[in-house]
Amino acid sequence: MSDRLPGFSTLAVHAGAQPDPTTGARATPIYQTTSFVFNDADHAASLFGLQAFGNIYTRIGNPTNAVLEERVAALEGGTAALAVASGHAAQVVVLQQLLQPGDEFIAARKLYGGSINQFTHAFKSFGWNVVWADSDDIASFERAITPRTKAIFIESIANPGGSITDIEAISTVARKAGVPLIVDNTLASPYLIRPIDHGADIVVHSLTKFLGGHGNSLGGIIVDAGTFDWSTGGKYPMLSEPRPEYHGIRLQETFGNFAFAIACRVLGLRDLGPALSPFNAFMILTGIETLPLRMQRHCDNAKAVAEFLAGHPAVASVSYAGLASDKYHQLARKYAPKGAGAVFTFSLKGGYDAGVSLVSKLQLFSHLANVGDTRSLVIHPASTTHSQLDDAAKIKSGAGPDVVRLSIGIEDKEDLIADLEQALGA
Ligand SMILES: *Cc1c(COP(=O)(O)O)cnc(C)c1O
Repeated sequence: MSDRLPGFSTLAVHAGAQPDPTTGARATPIYQTTSFVFNDADHAASLFGLQAFGNIYTRIGNPTNAVLEERVAALEGGTAALAVASGHAAQVVVLQQLLQPGDEFIAARKLYGGSINQFTHAFKSFGWNVVWADSDDIASFERAITPRTKAIFIESIANPGGSITDIEAISTVARKAGVPLIVDNTLASPYLIRPIDHGADIVVHSLTKFLGGHGNSLGGIIVDAGTFDWSTGGKYPMLSEPRPEYHGIRLQETFGNFAFAIACRVLGLRDLGPALSPFNAFMILTGIETLPLRMQRHCDNAKAVAEFLAGHPAVASVSYAGLASDKYHQLARKYAPKGAGAVFTFSLKGGYDAGVSLVSKLQLFSHLANVGDTRSLVIHPASTTHSQLDDAAKIKSGAGPDVVRLSIGIEDKEDLIADLEQALGA
């Protein structure tokens, strides 16, 4: 073996996986079992006391899921990862380690509609208060910091408009305030952007989207960058204080630069329970093997479709950072030089009614609430994903009444353009 570090595509196929030690199976087996036999009583005790690593019960860990965790940690450049049942589960588990009731976190206003809901309503019932900031105005993050701020949450490429966030600038604010920066990297995937390289402390994903990539399995993952010191000022007691559940262990002291991933597993996943099915982990692992190939095709197709739409008389504007004229093009060149992703919005001169009509006339594009499928997808956010917001909030989050969102698949771009042409023209 050479001492060359493996490249991204090699990691996407191999990281975390070995031929199965008992059967020689080359693809990672689906360990469809709830529980694992202990070697003896001492072994059992050491597993429960966190003195040894090993399998206990699939709610806490599973060998198929472990391969997925190792693979995504490698692709993102983190120290460890934890797979969970969905992207939303990842967000709950992360914030449960960081916030006590009455605490705050700052979130960029441009977010996945489901995250806006989760942060505004569900988290409020836990006593976790979200404070909104604007990723186009870095100072708005600084102004939002208070002594109760425990984290900053942004998307690398933001839903629904595909805008690019200046991760480094926001990480500087987080560092100064002594709080971790959490980046939802779902729309970029590590193929396009690796947030840890730009100062993120924690990366979360909905694996349901580009990483799984085939629209067939829900999943989520948390990646620990290993960069944050959790011991300062007793601000993060879940990590720095003795844990009564584990004979008084302090997680940061015991696990060092992967303490956050451990906290998410042994305090979050164990007690909240959103475990990922090993079958879904297998499907998502299979998807990740082709991530670099798919992602490049997604981006190349998206650019061609965006250029077509920008030249169409029925279209008022296209918001795609891959277009040279776009407001976020400079940030795209810095953060996502291989492509600006495949999810973007455009607005129609005919407003709300034209948006609804377009969606009903498209044939190859599927009208549904998802992104990051091999298939091309379309949705009218104002009447669906963002319908719970008032008009002003819709516009602020990039989902005004005239806006249509596309997630471009890996079909032939000529067919996608022909479908849009017939639907816009008719
Ligand atoms: C889909 C999505 C989520 C939520 O993920 P689920 O797997 O649906 O729970 C979070 N963030 C972004 C950017 C998403 O696209």
